[in-house]
Amino acid sequence: MLQDSVGQRADVIVLGAGIVGVSAAYAAQQRGLSVILLDRREPGSETSYGNSGVLSSGSILPLNKPALWRMLPKYLTNTHPALRWDPAWAARNAGWVARFLANAIPSQTRPRADALHGLSVATLKLHREWIVKAGVEARIRETGWLKVWRSDGTAAAKAEQAFLAGYGIGSELFDRQGISSLEPNILPIYTTALLHSDTASVDSPGAVVKAYAQMFAGAGGQIRQSDITAIVPESDGWRVVLADGALTARHVVVALGPWSADLLRPLGYSVPMGFERGYHQHFRPTLPRSLLRPIHDLEGGFVLTPMEQGIRLTTGVELTDRDAPSSFAQLDAALPLARGVLEFGEPVGEPWRGARPTLPDGLPMIGPAPRHPGLFLALGHQHIGFTTGPATGVAIAAMIAGAPPPFDASAFSPGRYLS
Ligand SMILES: Cc1cc2nc3c(=O)[nH]c(=O)nc-3n(C[C@H](O)[C@H](O)[C@H](O)COP(=O)(O)OP(=O)(O)OC[C@H]3O[C@@H](n4cnc5c(N)ncnc54)[C@H](O)[C@@H]3O)c2cc1C
Repeated sequence: MLQDSVGQRADVIVLGAGIVGVSAAYAAQQRGLSVILLDRREPGSETSYGNSGVLSSGSILPLNKPALWRMLPKYLTNTHPALRWDPAWAARNAGWVARFLANAIPSQTRPRADALHGLSVATLKLHREWIVKAGVEARIRETGWLKVWRSDGTAAAKAEQAFLAGYGIGSELFDRQGISSLEPNILPIYTTALLHSDTASVDSPGAVVKAYAQMFAGAGGQIRQSDITAIVPESDGWRVVLADGALTARHVVVALGPWSADLLRPLGYSVPMGFERGYHQHFRPTLPRSLLRPIHDLEGGFVLTPMEQGIRLTTGVELTDRDAPSSFAQLDAALPLARGVLEFGEPVGEPWRGARPTLPDGLPMIGPAPRHPGLFLALGHQHIGFTTGPATGVAIAAMIAGAPPPFDASAFSPGRYLS
């Protein structure tokens, strides 16, 4: 039982209230454990707020897939909107870059796709259940996700379709005319499109995370807002040191997204985390001429998606330090391209920046820390963390309870990088 005082104890303390932490907290609480969820901000205010809201069935190949080599000459010019990189960062992190590229080989494709497919199947089922249970089912759109090509993308789209079909993942190919009937309000600039038809999206990922957090609190879980400064092993569990006190628990789950490595370093764990930063900006929609689903312009390097706040334009990847000053070059490059696709109005609010937390093999860490009983890691979900948070949380809760996770989590073992 929880006590109402500083220094209280729970079965589980979850650090971080993004989609991953909220999901772990809810799943642990559903197993009858007492759970405290900690964050310095409100649930769903960081990376889990600013993403494109795609609940993807088919994003089972990380960025560092073999096709990356074909794109590399373009990316090296540092002018492609899909990927920018900071040379000084690359020099300082040459080891991470080398490990990231070393995974972009054919022999690494199938095992990683198999692992991410298992995770994706489990998580989409949970999202579809939880979003109803949390009372926000009006936020989910079962209209798929449209990948679009400006130049002839037929061969690439067909290859992707065949790859997805190998996993039983549905997709449909469209030509210019078909694209116009599917998305009547976009200008006819795309030649080819692949609709990921099993994929869904939401109109406010931050609101969905907040609703899941309320579902956790409504079922008896406790949410506390505080800055976490350290986690310290004790004889019977863990002490979590806060800016305004301390809490103890038998189990601690680290789900701090791009900040996860910071609190693990003092315990001797060096998490090889890279930061694929990304930006978004909202624009006033020109109703009723809006979008029906997220579209991913592959050559333009952006995603355009209808959100509660307006049309959200999200950028590709910027490889640099997590906290380096913002550069709006990718947003600036994407905006005229996006305006050539869809009519929309003035910016709403300020641009947002976040960081996709990425490990060199593009797979998350989901499991126990190697040297510390009671410490569980749920981090490194790169481009698909909003999708994969729920199944990650359920897997962590199962592991805490000594039960098997709902998918094969062996590829996600923290032990592959940490000792
Ligand atoms: C531009 C962009 C687009 C994306 N699009 C998609 C998409 O369409 N679909 C998809 O599935 N994924 C997408 N992603 C990826 C997805 O957003 C992330 O993988 C996911 O949100 C990570 O969730 P998380 O819970 O691990 O981290 P976060 O959401 O960042 O949560 C971590 C939490 O830890 C808290 N925290 C950190 N340090 C401390 C501390 N010391 N004390 C207290 N609290 C602390 C933070 O406040 C934060 O709330 C996108 C990402 C970006 C950047």
